[in-house]
Amino acid sequence: MEKYEVLKRYFGYRTFRAGQEEIVDAVLGGRDVCAIMPTGGGKSLCYQLPALLLSGITIVISPLISLMHDQVIALKEMGIPAAYINHTLTAPQLTRVCRNIGEGVYRIVYVAPERLETEQFLSLMQTVTVSLVAVDEAHCISEWGQDFRPSYRHIVSFLQTLPYRPTVAAFTATATARVRRDIIETLALDSPLCVTTGFDRPNLYFEVISPRQKYDALEALVRARAGKSGIVYCMTRKLTESVCERLVSAGIAATKYHAGLEDAERHGNQEAFIRDEKTVMVATNAFGMGIDKSNVSFVIHYNMPLSMEAYYQEAGRAGRDGEPADCILLYSPGDIVKARTLIALGEEAETHTPEETELLLRQNYERLEHMIAYCKTTACLRGQILSYFGQEHPERCESCGNCKTDYVEEDVTVEAQKILSCIRRAKTHLGYPVGRLMIAKILAGSKEQRLIACGLDTISTYGIMAETPRERVLDLMERLEELHYISTDPEHGGVFVGVVADALLRGKETLRMTFKYQHKPERAKKKGKQTADMADASLYEALRQLRFTLAQKEGVPAYVVFSNSTLADMAARKPLTKEDFLLVSGVGEKKAKRYADDFLEAIRAYEEKNGGNYGEA
Ligand code: ADP
Ligand code: MG
Ligand code: ZN
Repeated sequence: MEKYEVLKRYFGYRTFRAGQEEIVDAVLGGRDVCAIMPTGGGKSLCYQLPALLLSGITIVISPLISLMHDQVIALKEMGIPAAYINHTLTAPQLTRVCRNIGEGVYRIVYVAPERLETEQFLSLMQTVTVSLVAVDEAHCISEWGQDFRPSYRHIVSFLQTLPYRPTVAAFTATATARVRRDIIETLALDSPLCVTTGFDRPNLYFEVISPRQKYDALEALVRARAGKSGIVYCMTRKLTESVCERLVSAGIAATKYHAGLEDAERHGNQEAFIRDEKTVMVATNAFGMGIDKSNVSFVIHYNMPLSMEAYYQEAGRAGRDGEPADCILLYSPGDIVKARTLIALGEEAETHTPEETELLLRQNYERLEHMIAYCKTTACLRGQILSYFGQEHPERCESCGNCKTDYVEEDVTVEAQKILSCIRRAKTHLGYPVGRLMIAKILAGSKEQRLIACGLDTISTYGIMAETPRERVLDLMERLEELHYISTDPEHGGVFVGVVADALLRGKETLRMTFKYQHKPERAKKKGKQTADMADASLYEALRQLRFTLAQKEGVPAYVVFSNSTLADMAARKPLTKEDFLLVSGVGEKKAKRYADDFLEAIRAYEEKNGGNYGEA
């Protein structure tokens, strides 16, 4: 069999995605590979497909043991014999898997890195032919990466114990030059084919929002995406708990995941999400690596992450199936303080010398600065991401929050002067500073009891911004603080005017700021594939229901049966025969055999009901 035949027969695809074919060819030719492809780029296929054509078995090292199970099920569904070895297997299960490996039953075996040290596994490996070792999430081997896993170092010694060296292929989505060098050096890759496909994910829509009420904004965003699967990332466990609780009491099928939960609960919640029983996962960054759920249609960050690497990896968990998906970051300046604290607390690994710790810390602060810049920029967000990863791009993508927004630059000198002088006068009047909200009220000419009782209605700046919306006044103060014109006492919240404000107050300097104008009413058509158009929408829904029922019956996640994009293609093609069914993207022979009848019947039923004249109305 040749590769295209395998691609269609097992995976149900007719074409390779960017980078895949080159990698497959290299691996089949016995050449090492170091591949950097974005999340959802299709890395798995790069080792799964060769595994079917190579004579020996393929060992896949993957860090997330809880997901090996699902991956193996997905392979079996495609008709590919596979198994996994990790500590969740019982002794008899392990014995059986090992015996099967010895007998050459499997093409692919997933192994947890910790297992690579065990006597039993190592001696078994002496008796079989290993053609390929695929290292997934290979950045875990680098101490300089985000997710260093000491157990990944076992891969090196494992390779050395084998009677001869197999082809080694490393895969990751994160790829600073330093990490890539580390991967190649540590794994001792032999003149590897290095592939970096573009980082762009055209089907992802990026947006940064700075809402005054974060939770309310979140709830509205989630409601607007009712029934769709999504992840909400929070910075801390505590926040994860409270956000999840509020969503649940608002009637949203949310669940949670963080490292503070008991294993059983964490695992149960993850399963519920993967199987679409819960649609929203609220989680810390502990959630996600190795999660191959393909139908995640939004990722919302409740807080700013610590780096662009982290952000792009987490956000990239949306839209793996190629369908349009949203990546929204809810930013507030308070996130910066939280992030700095987290960085200061982290990074104290015992293996590091004080110099190394110092260096890592500095690196982390630098990374944070890039993340902050992303949150504040008015330039194209996609462009900002691609620049960060060193990729060229057009100036505007026309499909991110910033490209969809008009920005206007305004002279805010007079407004700033009013605010600054109000802060000064209030402080002089009272003898102590007041908070931002009180300043806004004075400027607005509020009749609030507390304000009048203090006589703040008698100062000359009282009511001088009565025409300006409060939102804008607060926004201006926030920006004045960013520019160091004012500062806030972290303890009492009182605001002070800084010395840099003098020139502005004395009229020696002007101040201009850029404002979001307003969203254009219609979001332009997204790039990427479109989910079934209106005429097909109800068929798509019917197919989705059927998929859910079948998945429940078999106890597998829905996307293991078929991905959303497969359903969309099916709804568009409306196959009526088995041959036509095989033409649907993502339908291989095994799945056609298993599911064609059910889905064809659903399509026929739909056609009858609609008299075949859909799409004309
Ligand atoms: P990664 O590991 O790079 O994040 P995956 O291997 O999980 O990505 O693949 C993401 C999705 O893309 C999966 O649903 C997979 O079936 C699909 N996919 C992979 N290769 C192709 C292809 N050549 N054509 C269409 N879909 C593909
Ligand atoms: Mg993967
Ligand atoms: Zn853009």
